Amino acid sequence: MELINNASLKEFINFNIDAICDQLYRIDDHEEVKVAARYLQQPLILGGGTNILPIGQIKRSVLRMELKGKEIIKEGDKPLVRVAAGEIWHEFVLWSIENDLAGIENLSLIPGTVGAAPIQNIGAYGVELESVFHSLEAIEIGTGNEIRLNKEDCKFGYRESIFKQSAKGKYIITSVTFELNRNPNIHMEYGAIRDVLNAWEIKNPGIREISKAIIYIRESKLPPPGTGNAGSFFKNPTISVDHFNQLKEIHPGMPSYPSDGGNVKVPAGWLIDQAGWRGKRVGNTGCFEGQALVLVNYGGATGEEVWHLAGMVMADIQEKYQIVLQPEVNIWGEV
Ligand code: FAD
Ligand code: NAP
Repeated sequence: MELINNASLKEFINFNIDAICDQLYRIDDHEEVKVAARYLQQPLILGGGTNILPIGQIKRSVLRMELKGKEIIKEGDKPLVRVAAGEIWHEFVLWSIENDLAGIENLSLIPGTVGAAPIQNIGAYGVELESVFHSLEAIEIGTGNEIRLNKEDCKFGYRESIFKQSAKGKYIITSVTFELNRNPNIHMEYGAIRDVLNAWEIKNPGIREISKAIIYIRESKLPPPGTGNAGSFFKNPTISVDHFNQLKEIHPGMPSYPSDGGNVKVPAGWLIDQAGWRGKRVGNTGCFEGQALVLVNYGGATGEEVWHLAGMVMADIQEKYQIVLQPEVNIWGEV
């Protein structure tokens, strides 16, 4: 374990924001996680820092989870693989592909750690973590007790789980167990996957080709590494069919997808783009030119500045479309 007092989080948070926390603990040992969980007052848990906006000084201890290791704990058609929280998600995806284990190829190139993946039930290109999730192990903050949660316990939803609701701040996830598949179920109906595969003249793709196509698409759309951002800043909103029909009359080009409970999902990126925010800069921040849903720190921005921009975007979308955008990003600090 390494302890740094009054540490800057800049190099650990993808937004590149120079927020100071009281103590930063870098932990790579399971027993040390238990001790920290028992004795520290409401620590904040840090993985790869790719989905956090720190605002102001963080008057808390921060535990950076660096536990490593993965093992196949059950063989068969649907092997179980247990992966430590500090493993890099995309490295695990590449490892699973190398080992002919299917199920997470559509989640290629999502930044961050394995331990954070259940927090928002990471998803992309038509696949969500919950489809391969078996269980997780965690340590309860306050007691240091070890617990195991299965899929039902985690209450997964669209970019949601119990860890963003009633269990927020209660557990440190130490490992996640996945049920992968020796027999791939290929998903290529989403976005530009099929177009890219056609252009590459690949007719019957396997998990390698799907992963490569998704990496290609993602690299062409997302900010280059080193640009401060947290991916999609807002969730895609869901609205009622009536509300959607009213909007569609005024904005005939508005895209939509079916959502739970007969509602309609509208891409937040489209709304922000149509409202004129794509590529717009406000001080050191802005809405990324390649995807308006990604708020960017162009250098030197504070968390407050990014949050100010987010507020301007939210107010504008509410006024223009009567839709309240919800941040997907985890906010650390007072807003
Ligand atoms: P962090 O940002 O460190 O933490 C995120 C939250 O999880 C925090 O609340 C933190 O306290 C908590 N946490 C982290 N680790 C643990 C743990 N071990 N135990 C308990 N709590 C923990 N997300 C998607 O779903 N799909 C995408 O396609 C996608 N694309 C992205 C593209 C870019 C360029 C970026 C920057 C982000 C993207 N994201 C995407 C968001 C992000 O990658 C995910 O949310 C990811 O799971 C965050 O992992 P992390 O380790 O960086 O978590
Ligand atoms: P996109 O392909 O331009 O599509 C815009 C939005 O429309 C997406 O957010 C997606 O919702 C929705 N969508 C597109 N096709 C769909 C379909 N066939 N069925 C249902 N919904 C559909 O999006 P993008 O920005 O380039 O991102 C591509 C994928 O990567 C998306 O799944 C997106 O969520 C994911 N991604 C996530 C982040 C993040 O930080 N969370 C960052 C980059 C990319 P969904 O988001 O529900 O899929």
